[in-house]
Amino acid sequence: PPDVETLGRSSWTLLHTITASYPPRPSPALQRDTTTFLSLFAQLYPCWTCAEDFQKYIASDNGRPRVSSREEFGRWMCEAHNAVNEKLGKERFDCGRWEERWRTGWKD
Ligand code: FAD
Repeated sequence: PPDVETLGRSSWTLLHTITASYPPRPSPALQRDTTTFLSLFAQLYPCWTCAEDFQKYIASDNGRPRVSSREEFGRWMCEAHNAVNEKLGKERFDCGRWEERWRTGWKD
């Protein structure tokens, strides 16, 4: 099985890429499905301690998923990733740049 770091990098790529392809104005049904997806993802994530903390984060007041637009969902994912960065003693990412990193590409 992949180690926790390889799994993490691949998973963040998937998660941020999902937010990048999310519609600017998602239907109520998609918003519900997305919230369900995140909760199941947090339940099934194959690193037990990671999964437990991510579930707690999603259930907390400032961690509750915000999925009513691409911009909001992308920001939320960036903040969720920063919460893990902080826990691991990594640098925080500037969430003003999530779209540049994951959707439109860095400008030179
Ligand atoms: P990663 O953190 O994997 O980031 C990959 C790339 O994303 C970076 O190079 C950067 O370009 C970009 N990036 C960084 N921060 C952000 C941000 N905030 N928003 C947008 N883009 C960003 N590991 C543990 O050891 N313990 C845990 O409890 C744990 N929990 C995790 C929970 C989840 C849900 C996930 C997906 C991963 C978790 N991990 C955990 C793995 C950990 O977050 C990292 O993926 C792993 O340590 C590898 O880190 P990295 O430095 O290579 O970059």
